[in-house]
Amino acid sequence: MPEKVRINSADVKYTEKHIESRYCYRTASVRRDGDAFTVTPSSTEFTFRTERKVPRLGVMLVGWGGNNGTTVTAAVLANKLGLTWRTKTGMKKANYYGSLLESSTVCLGSGPDGEVYTPFRDLLPMVHPNDIVFDGWDISSLDLGRAMERAQVLDWSLQEKLRPHMSQLKPRPSIYIPDFIAANQKQRADNLIGGSKAEQVDQIRRDIRDFRKKSGVDKVIVLWTANTERFCDVLPGVNDTAENLLNSIQTGGEVSPSTMFAVASVLEGCAYINGSPQNTFVPGAVDLAVQRGVFIGGDDFKSGQTKLKSVLVDFLISAGIKPTSIVSYNHLGNNDGLNLSAPQQFRSKEISKSNVVDDMVQSNPVLYRPGEKPDHCVVIKYVPYVGDCKRAMDEYTSEIMMGGTNTVALHNTCEDSLLASPIILDLVILTELCQRITFRTQDDPVFQGFHSVLSLLSFLCKAPLVPQGAPVVNAFFRQRACIENVMRACLGLPPQNHMQLEHKMKRSFMHSDENHMLHPIFMNGKMEHINKYQSVKCIDMNGHEKIRHTVS
Ligand code: NAD
Repeated sequence: MPEKVRINSADVKYTEKHIESRYCYRTASVRRDGDAFTVTPSSTEFTFRTERKVPRLGVMLVGWGGNNGTTVTAAVLANKLGLTWRTKTGMKKANYYGSLLESSTVCLGSGPDGEVYTPFRDLLPMVHPNDIVFDGWDISSLDLGRAMERAQVLDWSLQEKLRPHMSQLKPRPSIYIPDFIAANQKQRADNLIGGSKAEQVDQIRRDIRDFRKKSGVDKVIVLWTANTERFCDVLPGVNDTAENLLNSIQTGGEVSPSTMFAVASVLEGCAYINGSPQNTFVPGAVDLAVQRGVFIGGDDFKSGQTKLKSVLVDFLISAGIKPTSIVSYNHLGNNDGLNLSAPQQFRSKEISKSNVVDDMVQSNPVLYRPGEKPDHCVVIKYVPYVGDCKRAMDEYTSEIMMGGTNTVALHNTCEDSLLASPIILDLVILTELCQRITFRTQDDPVFQGFHSVLSLLSFLCKAPLVPQGAPVVNAFFRQRACIENVMRACLGLPPQNHMQLEHKMKRSFMHSDENHMLHPIFMNGKMEHINKYQSVKCIDMNGHEKIRHTVS
């Protein structure tokens, strides 16, 4: 299908297979001498290549029968079938609200009627969620129709329409090591793979191959949306290198189910994304992914409270206000909440939620001394009655001018799985797109892809996984700008700079564009030329000062 957005530039070439762009990447290096900085700008010429053919994508979810697993599968089915359903507030129609790629827009530039926006999904050729084929594993044997009912997320009338389709889907048996998730999960564990750890990993690999063959998909991405596990002990000789990790799987050492899935996926050449907070990516798992050149991404979907935190703290600190205390309470009543009511699993979540403001704090040495941080406390309680409608209550206290205090208190009802599902879609679609992007620099003629640790996914994750030594960015708008600007680079477009200089000048420099064409206007007794966006002061017939716009 031809692209909806086509670039008219000598720097961009459309071949049968690729969109190829020439792009100048500008950055700067900084030297510090006491209080003074020397900044040296530099520029590197890149060539980006994006494969135009969009493959048929298969997604295998670990925890397919859970709230997120059933909700994302149901949402895609409902969209694909164009379903509508009645609720007490009227008719509803399936949509992808909450998806960055499907439901948010980017500005392409100016047209005759002002700024032109397009959905993210139209920037580059990418998989449409309706075309994703789902499969997956769960330790619970319920088919997806019954599992959707258990989840209590979707309106009943929608469930009735979806049930005939959903009940045909059955999760594959999975790996269950009771020690890694809460003891309260035991009663649903009736769909299990037996054997040793090595045999279990082999079975997962066979499942991936079986799905690929039977469904006819071109690519498979595996995503963990199963229960939060306890942290895995990182032990030298056990899981610190790829070799030791593979060996521990053979000998039955300390390896979590989520890491076993990661290993199986990487060995099958499938990207693996971790939507939960635990340390699935022990050093050996990262090492294996890097060795095999397979993408891994995570950790922990950024859906509700943390997303808001990464916006709010970004806003406060970048406005020069100093948050000094951040207190976050949650209560939720779904199975995730039940699992998190166990101390070790809660600890994983607490760690994942705790570092989210660090980069923003460190970015402002005017407000914070080295090592200084706001007080930050996270509490999670299990309250069955609220089900999937998690309540998140936050209090942000900040120091303002002259010893003043500003307190913001927020109450956020999250509908957890409906917020997480579009994020799952964005994660897999973005990962797939990144698999089709390669680039080279002026000094290195060989095309390469992104690093195996796919930090571009940071926007979607609470505790972003980045290549060793790379800075972790949690700030919401920086993360979003990164995705947008990388996609723009693939189209040879400059980064979005929001300067809008053309609207801030007395005489425009953009004469070629119709939008910025100069129009003759008779004023103050003589003929002037101004563009559509300009206004001029003139004296009317009564001698009053008046603002005139060209076209009006
Ligand atoms: P859920 O408990 O409803 O679903 C998890 C599913 O995983 C269950 O069906 C369970 O049987 C299954 N499971 C457990 N261990 C398994 C294993 N080893 N193999 C296969 N299946 C297994 O939870 P959920 O609400 O769908 O959330 C899933 C995960 O996503 C949780 O870890 C949660 O912390 C994380 N998360 C959720 C959100 C959100 O907004 N919903 C946000 C961030 C992170």
